Amino acid sequence: MGDIKILIVEDEQRLADVLKKQLEESGFAAEIAYDGYIGKQMTEKNAYNLIILDINLPLINGYDLCREIRKTNNKTPIIMLTAFGTPENKISGFDTGADDYVVKPFDFRELLARINVFLRRADPGTIDSEKIDLADLEMDLKTKNVTRAGRRIDLTAKESLLLETFLKNRHKLLTRDFIIEKVWGIDFDPSTNIIDVYVNYLRKKIDRDFEPKLIHTKFGFGFYCSDKEI
Ligand code: CA
Repeated sequence: MGDIKILIVEDEQRLADVLKKQLEESGFAAEIAYDGYIGKQMTEKNAYNLIILDINLPLINGYDLCREIRKTNNKTPIIMLTAFGTPENKISGFDTGADDYVVKPFDFRELLARINVFLRRADPGTIDSEKIDLADLEMDLKTKNVTRAGRRIDLTAKESLLLETFLKNRHKLLTRDFIIEKVWGIDFDPSTNIIDVYVNYLRKKIDRDFEPKLIHTKFGFGFYCSDKEI
């Protein structure tokens, strides 16, 4: 795992240093940027498998840096560290293109679980088949490339994981708990409306301009993915 490289953008030096040490002890390579400007430069120069991004940062804040990164890079998972626990703040993080968040102070094991949700899927050894399709939508599980009616669709890491969960369980009703566990990990606070937010993001990309619609809401139950009503 030593070749998996994680960037930590965090101005609290002690926290950043401890985090780097913990990540290295978990088998990752880790680098630190102590402000947003250095963070921006490092993401432009180097390729990272994942970025841990604080929000309150000197020079460029986490929201702005996340937007900057997303202009050219949709694939690298970004986990935000937020001191603000309110749903509104979480949502504004997602609007900038972050894939997940951890509220400070956090337990390293919680962060590690979130990291592993993203990195597990990057391991080709765990993928059993290569492509899944439904109607004219196709997803390549190795490259994570998605097309609908032959058109390439760009998804963020979290959207991609959500779609993969839907496709692997197509034509089945999925509860919110099931989706949360698969896409956000078991420690996630289910009181947020984060699933609805992400389902909307995904619908905009894969359903809005196409027929038939593939993602359906089952009121009071959850969601399902199918080319017909069930
Ligand atoms: Ca900070």
